[in-house]
Amino acid sequence: MSTISNEKYEAVIGLEVHAQLLTKSKAFAAVSSEYGGAPNRQVTPLCLGHPGTLPVLNQNLVRYTLKVGLATGCKISEKSIFARKNYFYPDLPKGYQISQYETPICYNGCIQIELEDYVKTIGITRIHMEEDAGKSIHDQDPYHTLVDLNRAGTPLIEIVSEPDIRTPREAYEYLKKIRQIVQYLEVCDGNMEEGSLRCDANVSIRPRGQKEFGTRTELKNMNSFRNVERAITFEIERQIELVESGGEVVQQTLLWDPNKLETRQMRSKEEAHDYRYFPEPDLPPIIVTESLLEDIQSELPELPDKRFQRFVDELSLNKDDAEILTDNRYLADYFEEALVFLDEPKAISNVILTEVLRVLNDKSISINEFSITPKQLSGLIRLKLEDKINSSAMQTIFNELIRSDKDALDLAGELNLIQVSDSGFLEPIIDEILESNPDEVKRYREGKKALMGFFIGQVMKQSKGKANPKQAREMVAARLDSTE
Ligand code: ADP
Ligand code: MG
Repeated sequence: MSTISNEKYEAVIGLEVHAQLLTKSKAFAAVSSEYGGAPNRQVTPLCLGHPGTLPVLNQNLVRYTLKVGLATGCKISEKSIFARKNYFYPDLPKGYQISQYETPICYNGCIQIELEDYVKTIGITRIHMEEDAGKSIHDQDPYHTLVDLNRAGTPLIEIVSEPDIRTPREAYEYLKKIRQIVQYLEVCDGNMEEGSLRCDANVSIRPRGQKEFGTRTELKNMNSFRNVERAITFEIERQIELVESGGEVVQQTLLWDPNKLETRQMRSKEEAHDYRYFPEPDLPPIIVTESLLEDIQSELPELPDKRFQRFVDELSLNKDDAEILTDNRYLADYFEEALVFLDEPKAISNVILTEVLRVLNDKSISINEFSITPKQLSGLIRLKLEDKINSSAMQTIFNELIRSDKDALDLAGELNLIQVSDSGFLEPIIDEILESNPDEVKRYREGKKALMGFFIGQVMKQSKGKANPKQAREMVAARLDSTE
């Protein structure tokens, strides 16, 4: 966005986030809701919309939704109802989607997002429960659209934000925070690329200082965090240019094209659906009792913001490190399990943030698939802190641990990597190196002190990595700096 228009206009953004819940079965039918099965194998007559079938509420749909509601400071409706959202589409055999309309189960919450130089609270208008539709497949048959109903009836929550977001970056951070929370709560895997977390963005602009909101457009089809930020940026610019050139923003739904990096019209306000919402007659109201709420409250894990603050305050980690460690619940769990065996937060954090993350990245695996146990890792770090191994031995043992169940000390012994800090062991090695490199000795004594690195390298090589480099340096310096 050019700075001039940026000064003149302000964007107003509200996000609607759909999260697919990790319940074992569907929202209203006792059949698996697991992703990726053979098409149309996870369906019951209810999913097919057969007459006479009746929905039965999956209690975990309510429990999972309440977890998210409590974690985002929402008020909870003691009594809420389901509603039918009617529309016709081949992947919706019933002709309606069960959702909530006037009474969402959770409302009036908020979350905090942290930007580079400020912290901001974003209001959450409502969180409601609904079921997903099936999937139309257009690219497997040249003449027909195929329909897979495995997803029909999969439980979803929709989290609707207040129009409190002002920049594409804030939208990005908001979405990341939502994902972090649902992942911490283990109610959604948060995978945008696979569609288990989806986001629609409502965007408008207004001259700075103006109170009233401008006309908004709704952006769909942004299947990655980067695309959400890009699409909103594109849309703000488009609206500013339009208004600056005398045009007017029309309320419409736009599809983001991730290849062309632009939005195009999907439907205008006139074509907007009239969903003819009405109360779902086949399901009783959802009653949330005080004891159910207490029960769920007691199941909540420590949430990411709190955990981050504890890592900074009590474990003295710096903010950047604490943020990366707590970004993913299981990485933070791994770190804390390692701490049980060795109370050295900083040292453990360093190794996780460098070596461990590098391996996860190289192999594209998650921390749960990482083969070094927290106990093994602590054992390795202990050897280093106690000066029993040097840095290069640490690296070697780390690589071995990936393939081994043994502990670091045993491996260090087997690989003959226990550091020898005995001057009797190093003396003959140093003698030999100085004798066979007279030129380097001469140049060093004439002032080319950088050659120290060469000598230490030789000592490490000759000692097969077992020398303590600090001690080697002292001994070599003592020899070379003495006037013989
Ligand atoms: P709908 O029922 O059409 O989805 P809502 O009133 O529920 O409309 O709003 C949907 C989202 O749009 C919410 O996240 C809300 O914050 C946001 N929103 C509402 N008005 C505006 C506006 N003028 N500009 C940007 N976002 C808006
Ligand atoms: Mg909407």
